[in-house]
Amino acid sequence: MPLLDDEFNRAGERSSKEKLTSWETLRSVDREPGNPDRRAPGLSRPAPQRGSRGVFSGLVSTCSNPGCDSGWLQIWRSRSGPFFEGGWGCSARCIAANIEAAVRRETKAKRIDSTPHRHRLPLGLVMLEQGWITSEQLRKALDAQRAAGRGRLGNWLVHEQGISEPLVTRALGLQWSCPVLPLEHHDPATMASLLPRLFVEAFGALPLRVAAGQILYLGFEERPDPVVVLAAERMLGLRVEAGLVHGSQFRPAFERMMSASYPRTELVEAASESPLVRVLTKAVERFKPAESRLVRMHDCLWLRMWKNPRPAAAPNIADVEDVICSLAAN
Ligand SMILES: [Zn+2]
Repeated sequence: MPLLDDEFNRAGERSSKEKLTSWETLRSVDREPGNPDRRAPGLSRPAPQRGSRGVFSGLVSTCSNPGCDSGWLQIWRSRSGPFFEGGWGCSARCIAANIEAAVRRETKAKRIDSTPHRHRLPLGLVMLEQGWITSEQLRKALDAQRAAGRGRLGNWLVHEQGISEPLVTRALGLQWSCPVLPLEHHDPATMASLLPRLFVEAFGALPLRVAAGQILYLGFEERPDPVVVLAAERMLGLRVEAGLVHGSQFRPAFERMMSASYPRTELVEAASESPLVRVLTKAVERFKPAESRLVRMHDCLWLRMWKNPRPAAAPNIADVEDVICSLAAN
């Protein structure tokens, strides 16, 4: 939205009266019919009430911090940003308050169990049941796996028993109730703007493509990670379809993905909540994002900041910055 960016840039140079007009523009853009809610799905804090302060009711956007005590003095502040989770912050203090609330929400949220469920049928039995292997092949593959003390059963079936790899991936798909995803037209350079490199590497999550600007296909080699799927959905505002990619296709694509250029990422270790909130606030105040969000991804908090208020599904990497904070010490 260049228009909105211009509004942002010019707002600081205008008189107070003109600023009101500028904020009114922002507000009406925000309410544009068909404009999808930019807040991350699952965020429970209600949307801040805008334009509800006295004589300026209906004219200005108000600070999104529910505890803001600047009254309507805030409208004279020369701040056109930053925005955090769809709300404008009139001061660094208010941004910090909103970030603190988000940090609490994310750290207290119940963890999703990403460990394999024990009741899932083992891969060998799935394949046996489908008639894709014989009990003799299964026994030999299990023996080889046990003797070597390493490797996945699927690999032993492929390499020792001559079972086709697509059949093994199909069986894994049955085991995890997810599709096998194709890798055609995979473009690592574009996909690198979707997830930080650290997450792609650590969780083996391969962004494959975005369909119709709405659905992100995320490929895994062995099994989908529901924590990564949910965090990506909440952060990106996209529906995420997770699936498996044949190992022989996954590995080279993963290598290509690792050598792509990613958005700038700051890695942070914070011993407790208040230094963490300070670091995140500093990042938001520095970058002045037109939108930013915070979600938890396993033992990390992930802050993403966008320059554009309504970012494309796969934005330019220069328009995005990430801050990843390890929660291990907390
Ligand atoms: Zn405020």
